[in-house]
Amino acid sequence: MLSVSKVSLIASISLAAILAYLQSTVIPSASLLIWCSLMVAASLLRAALVCFPQPSRLNRGFARIRLKRFRLGVMVAGAVWGSSGFLLFPADHPQHVMFLIFVLAGMTAGGVISFSADLISAVTFSALLSLPIATRLFVAGDSLSVTMGVAVMLYLGFMIMSMRRINRNVYENITLRIEAAGREEKVRDSEERYRLLLSHLPVGIFHYDTDLVITYCNDRCAAMLRNSVNCIVGLDMTLVKDQASLPSLRRALQGEMAYYEGHYQATYSEAEAWIYMTCAPVRDGSGKIVGGISIVQDVTEHKVAEDRINNLAFYDPLTNLPNRRLLLDRLQQALATSARSGMEGALLFIDLDNFKALNDTLGHDMGDLLLQQVAQRLGSCVREGDSVARLGGDEFVVMLEDLGQYDLEAAAQTEAVGEKILAILGEPYQLAINEYRCTPSIGVTLFNGHRSAKEELLKQADIAMYQAKKAGRNTVRFFDPQMQDAVNARVLLESELRKALEKQQFRLHYQIQVDGSHRPLGAEALIRWIHPERGLVSPDEFIRVAEETDLILPIGQWVMDTACAQLKTWQQDTLTRNLALAVNVSAKQFHQNDFVARVQATVERHAIAPVLLKLELTESILLEKIEDTIRTMHALKEIGVQFSLDDFGTGYSSLQYLKQLPLDQIKIDRSFVRDIASDSGDREIVGTIIAMAQNLDLDVIAEGVETEEQRQFLLANGCVNFQGYLFGKPVPVREFEAMLAPK
Ligand code: C2E
Ligand code: MG
Ligand code: MG
Repeated sequence: MLSVSKVSLIASISLAAILAYLQSTVIPSASLLIWCSLMVAASLLRAALVCFPQPSRLNRGFARIRLKRFRLGVMVAGAVWGSSGFLLFPADHPQHVMFLIFVLAGMTAGGVISFSADLISAVTFSALLSLPIATRLFVAGDSLSVTMGVAVMLYLGFMIMSMRRINRNVYENITLRIEAAGREEKVRDSEERYRLLLSHLPVGIFHYDTDLVITYCNDRCAAMLRNSVNCIVGLDMTLVKDQASLPSLRRALQGEMAYYEGHYQATYSEAEAWIYMTCAPVRDGSGKIVGGISIVQDVTEHKVAEDRINNLAFYDPLTNLPNRRLLLDRLQQALATSARSGMEGALLFIDLDNFKALNDTLGHDMGDLLLQQVAQRLGSCVREGDSVARLGGDEFVVMLEDLGQYDLEAAAQTEAVGEKILAILGEPYQLAINEYRCTPSIGVTLFNGHRSAKEELLKQADIAMYQAKKAGRNTVRFFDPQMQDAVNARVLLESELRKALEKQQFRLHYQIQVDGSHRPLGAEALIRWIHPERGLVSPDEFIRVAEETDLILPIGQWVMDTACAQLKTWQQDTLTRNLALAVNVSAKQFHQNDFVARVQATVERHAIAPVLLKLELTESILLEKIEDTIRTMHALKEIGVQFSLDDFGTGYSSLQYLKQLPLDQIKIDRSFVRDIASDSGDREIVGTIIAMAQNLDLDVIAEGVETEEQRQFLLANGCVNFQGYLFGKPVPVREFEAMLAPK
């Protein structure tokens, strides 16, 4: 209404001017002047109301005042225009009356349209306009005037009726528009809120379609990936580098809520993080799944904190070593593993001697420094899979695993580690400006899964450690006294073996090998240790320790040298010239890097016919590093030496490998030969071994032949080479040679 006020005011003034001009000829000037004055005053009032400064924002109270003012303007205008029905009514000039009615009807129609939004304004305006002229027409009294008066009234009635309809329409229209605008604003507001929320949320959010292509992602999500929203939207997730989260995204597409927690590595940037992701399906109006929404939280800090807490819970902060709790945990696992594998393990309980004195004299800082250095040194004493832990104070524990299946073997290895720890921890420490010396006492207990409980084991090692302290510190003690004895004996044996090498206490004995007609073919060289107190010691008592301590390497070399020297001597005599000599080679010896070169050098040094030297290998050699073994054997074959596979049948040789090895002979183990007479199973085995050797085109020799019956059986089955007490025991070379001499 207000918007058309100016136009209607101008139209009204113009029309008033035209009316005044046209009626001026038929109306007394006084009436005209009054009306014009009224019109000018009314127009000024309306102009003032229209142009009255409006506040920029509307409020309800002000709107009401404006409406009242507007209605006042309309009423004044209506009254002034209505007054024209009397003031400008030329009774004697029907044409002018008609014109006046025409103008007033037009104004009424214009008013109805202009003011239809406010029924009161519209009705008041049309009534004020029409009623005076209608009254004047009825007052005129003639039939034409009365008829016109009736017409005016009818017109007014019709106008009022139309006005109600128009007003209703306009009102509804306006209400609808206001409501729509309100709703639109609400939607705009909520969209803006949603957008703000999404872009400022501390979590990443992305939407994806059923092909796993990203259709939306918020700023936080882009920031997490160190990429831009534009680059991420449109990304096909089936092509990204890190596919770990895809199963969860896919599960959401199948209608489930899905979760993923793990490490994520971005494809198009260096970004990586620990994330926690929740995925949910997105459905359209009909309930069909059209994609998924995923909420991603960067939990890296949380994870780091968790790790730190874990670290505090399981590691000693001073040395960064596992604490008691983690040690017990690992011990539990070690026990389970040991139960499965049958391998022994050991706990070494290490306590620093006189640590308290250091704390008291140099202070706790120096004490801490020492503990850190001890921790470092302990780490260097053990293999990768072993554990070093700090229980607290100056107490450390080393846990060793996979120490072999036998107590003694495990004890020996543990003893070696213990000695190494004594040596390494015993070296001087530099604590700031002080050089400090410190020794540990070590208690050891062995464990194997079937018979130990973890707390009990720790206690045993602790008790053994006290034994070590009692024994004068700086030493290793085993919990089990028998074990301690065995370890002591072993340690003694090792040092005596070293001495034996130095003092040349080893001898070779020779055991004859014969053919089916008792003709000597050669001998097996068997080592003996002539111990100054114990007398002759059998190889069974020291070869294993020699192998475990690597002393087998110099001993083996001595055997090889002595055997070759013997072959050389035999070459001088027609009686012994063709005898072959078999030498036992242990696995450690065989797997030395320079074994081939050593054999070659020995053969050359003694200038013997290599074909007379026979290396006896055991099946255990073949089990390890099979490719290397085959290569070494071929290289040795080049030199010309022979190979015999010792103790055949006791190991696990695969026929597949046997075929690939350049063997010359198979030696049937004496355990099968022993019971040939009584055990049909052994007879079967021996028969099979001989048949197999023949098929592989290998020589076969039986060892441990003690009786004629055994010899006969072997002979009957095709074995024509023998070694055993039946033909001669291993004896010193003089006796051996005497045996050969023709009687
Ligand atoms: P081996 O190589 O199988 O040697 C055969 C063993 O059987 C020898 O025991 C021998 O005395 C014994 N023997 C031979 N004939 C009979 C028999 O008729 N009846 C019985 N009951 N025994 C018989 P020895 O000399 O005590 O040697 C034991 C093992 O020590 C050898 O078994 C060999 O594996 C190892 N050995 C001996 N000398 C050396 C050596 O110089 N180097 C290496 N690495 N090992 C050696
Ligand atoms: Mg042998
Ligand atoms: Mg043997």
